[in-house]
Amino acid sequence: MSASSFGYPLIDLIDRLSAQPVCIAVRRGLIIVLPLVLVGAFMIMLANIPYEPAQLAIDRALGPTWRQVCKNLIDGTFSIASLALLCAIGGVSAAHANQKRQTPYVSPIMMATVTLSCFFVLIAPLKSGIGDTAFSLSSGLLLAMCIALATSSIFLRLSRCSWLHLPVEMAGNDPVARDVFTLIPASIITILFFGLIRAALVALDMANLHELSERILVHPFSKGGDSLGFGVLYSMASQVLWFFGAHGPNMLFAVENDILIPAALTNMNAIASGTAPPFIFTKMFFDAYTRMGGSGCTLALCLAIFLRGKDRGVKKLCLFALLPTLCNVNEPLLFGIPLVLNPVYFIPFILVPAVQTVIAYTATVTGFIPPTSTDIAWTTPALMSGYIVSGSINGPILQAVNLLVGLLIYMPFVVISDAIREKRSKQVMQNLFTAANGGGVSDNRKCLGQPGEVGRLANALAGDLTRALDEPGQIYLVYQPQFNNETGRVTGVEALLRWNHPAYGNIAPPITVALAEDTGNIDRLGRFVLEEACRRRAAWSGFVDADMIMCINVSPVQLQNPKFSGYVWNALSDASLKPGQLELEITESSMIKPESSALEMLRSLHTDGIRVAIDDFGMGYASLRYLRAFPVSTVKIDRSLTEHIDNNINQQIVRSVLELNQSLGISTVVEGVENRKQLNSFTSMGFSTFQGYFFSRPLCAKACLAYINANRG
Ligand code: C2E
Ligand code: CA
Ligand code: CA
Repeated sequence: MSASSFGYPLIDLIDRLSAQPVCIAVRRGLIIVLPLVLVGAFMIMLANIPYEPAQLAIDRALGPTWRQVCKNLIDGTFSIASLALLCAIGGVSAAHANQKRQTPYVSPIMMATVTLSCFFVLIAPLKSGIGDTAFSLSSGLLLAMCIALATSSIFLRLSRCSWLHLPVEMAGNDPVARDVFTLIPASIITILFFGLIRAALVALDMANLHELSERILVHPFSKGGDSLGFGVLYSMASQVLWFFGAHGPNMLFAVENDILIPAALTNMNAIASGTAPPFIFTKMFFDAYTRMGGSGCTLALCLAIFLRGKDRGVKKLCLFALLPTLCNVNEPLLFGIPLVLNPVYFIPFILVPAVQTVIAYTATVTGFIPPTSTDIAWTTPALMSGYIVSGSINGPILQAVNLLVGLLIYMPFVVISDAIREKRSKQVMQNLFTAANGGGVSDNRKCLGQPGEVGRLANALAGDLTRALDEPGQIYLVYQPQFNNETGRVTGVEALLRWNHPAYGNIAPPITVALAEDTGNIDRLGRFVLEEACRRRAAWSGFVDADMIMCINVSPVQLQNPKFSGYVWNALSDASLKPGQLELEITESSMIKPESSALEMLRSLHTDGIRVAIDDFGMGYASLRYLRAFPVSTVKIDRSLTEHIDNNINQQIVRSVLELNQSLGISTVVEGVENRKQLNSFTSMGFSTFQGYFFSRPLCAKACLAYINANRG
C-alpha cells in the first residue's frame, strides 16, 4: 500500500474525487457561508416551532415585531446564501490557483466580483421577484454553484494566457492596482462570454433558467402513481439534487404540489367519510419516515458521528446543529460537514432515505402503520411526528427502526470520512514539520508565512500556542536519559518539549519551537523549558548523582535576546543548582555567526561554568572547524550518523570527532541509538555515552527518576 493510498479502490476513488479542485472550492465555499446558514437555520426553527402554544407564548413575550425581525434575519441569511456562496467559491478558487501558482496572482476579491457579475448577466431578474429566488438557499444554490465554478474556471484559464495581460506600467506602482490591471482583459472576456450565453438563452426562449431546470426535473414524475418505484425514485432524486446543492424537495415542488399534497388531502377526506385512505405516498409519509433531521435523514448521521466519529471539530458541529436537526432543519450539517458535493457521503446520503422509503412502504402495506392522513408541521421532531401521523406507538417504532437502519448505513462512511480527513491533516502537518525545519519563507518566519493549508494550520496553531502558554497542562517536558555503558549509570538527561494539543494531539517540538519563534513567543516558551527543567533537576537532588546534568535545548533565536543569560542565572539560583548541573544544547546553524553577540554570550556562560553542547553534530553546518570557534563541553553525534554507521566515510568522520574531542577534553554523546548493532559499532570505536530508544524513550519525570535509580552501575 503506497503512502497516499488506503488500499481499498472505492475509498481511494472517493479520496481522489474529494481532492479535486471543484470539490475543494465547493466545500470551502459552503463552509465560508456557514455563519449565515447557522443563523438562518435557528431563525427558521424559531419561526416554525411545531407547538402552537409555544409560538403564542413567544409572540406574547416578544411582541409583534419579533416575527418581522425573524423574517429579516432569514432574508439576510438564507435568502441571499446563494449569492454569498457564489462569491465565496470565486474567492476560494482564486486562492487555490494562487497557491498552486499556475496563474499570475489573482485577487480573490476580484475573482468574487467577476463571478457575481457573471451571475447577474446570466440570470438577471427578468421581472421583479425572480432575482430573490435566484439568491436564496432553497432555490438558487445549484445554479449559483454552477455559475461560480464555470466563471472561475474560464477566468483562471484566461488569466494564464500571458498575451491577455495588460502591461503593468499602466497601473502605476500600487501593487493591488497592478494585480487587477494585468487581468482586466480576462475579466472582461469572462463577463462578455456569459452575456453571449444569456443572449443565446433569450433567443431560444430559455431565459428563465430556474423555471427551465424545474420543468426538466419534474418531468419523470409527471405520470404520478403510488407505486414503490415512484416513492424510491422521488426520495433518491430529491437526495441527488441535495447532493449537488439544490434543495431537493423545493426543486421537485411540482411533485409535492401535484401528487403528494392531493394524496394527503384525499386520505384525510377518506378518513372523514369513514373509508380507507387510498394513498401510501403523501407529503407526511416522507416528512415523518424518511426526513428525520431533514433530507437524507441527517438525524441518523448525527447519531453515527456521535457514536463513531473521531474528529472533534465535526462532533462539535453536530452538537451545535443538534437542535435544528431535531426540528428537521439540516442546513448546518449540509454546509458544515459538508454533505453537498462531498463524495464520501454520496452513497449513504442517497441510500438511507431510499431504504427507509422501502421499509415504511412495507410497514404500511402490511398494516403495521396506517396510511398517513394527519397533517403535521415539517419541523415536528422525530418520534413525536411518528406518533401524530400514525396515531399509535407503531409510528415511533417504525421511525426508530428507520433511524437504526440509517445509523448503520452512515456509520462506515463516518469512519471513512475520518480516515480521509486524518490522512489529509497528517499530510499538512508533515508539510508544516518540513517548513519548521526549513529556512523560513518571508521575513524569516518559518511557518506563518507558508502559503495555503500549511499556512492556515500554522496560523491556527500559533493562536492555540499563545493560549496554551497561558494555561498549564498542554505544554510540558519529558526526559530522556543519557547512559554511560562503562559505569552503567545515567550521566545526564535531556529535557524535551511536548505539546499535547486538544484537537491535533502531539505537536512535533520543532513545529512548536518554530511557531513560538514566528509569533515572538520563543522567550516565554524558552523560559518555561529552562525553569521547569531546573526545578525538576533540583527536585531530584539527593536521589541522583550530584554531577548528573540536566540538558535543555536552546533555539538560536533565544540567544539573540541579550537578557538570555540573565534568565539562565535566575533559573539556576531559583532552583539552587550549580552551573555545572545545566547544559545548553545548541544546534549549530548559520544563525550563530562567528563574532556575534550570541556567541559572545555563550562564551561567557561557558566560562562561568555552564555547560554548552553542540547538538545534531554531523548534519547541516557542522564541521570540525566549528568546534574551535564554539565554547563547547559536549558534542552530540546526530542520529543520521548513528543510523548509517556502517558507512565507511561516516565511521571516519565519527572517529576523527572522537579523537579531536578527547584531545580537547570535550565529552561526546551518541544520539539515536536504536539497536545493539549500532551500540557495538560505537563502543568498539571508543564511545561510552549514549542516548536513544535502545536505552530508553523520553519519559515523564517520575519514570525517568525510576530509570536513573534502576541503573546505578
Ligand atoms: P534533538 O535535540 O536532537 O532531540 C532528540 C530527538 O530525537 C527527540 O525528538 C527524541 O525523542 C528523539 N530520539 C531520541 N532517541 C531516539 C532514537 O533512538 N530514535 C529516534 N528515531 N529518535 C530518537 P523530539 O523530542 O521529537 O525533539 C525533536 C527536536 O525538537 C529536538 O531534537 C530539538 O531540536 C527540538 N526540541 C525539543 N525540545 C525542545 C525545546 O525545549 N526547545 C527547543 N528549542 N527545541 C526543542
Ligand atoms: Ca537536543
Ligand atoms: Ca540531537
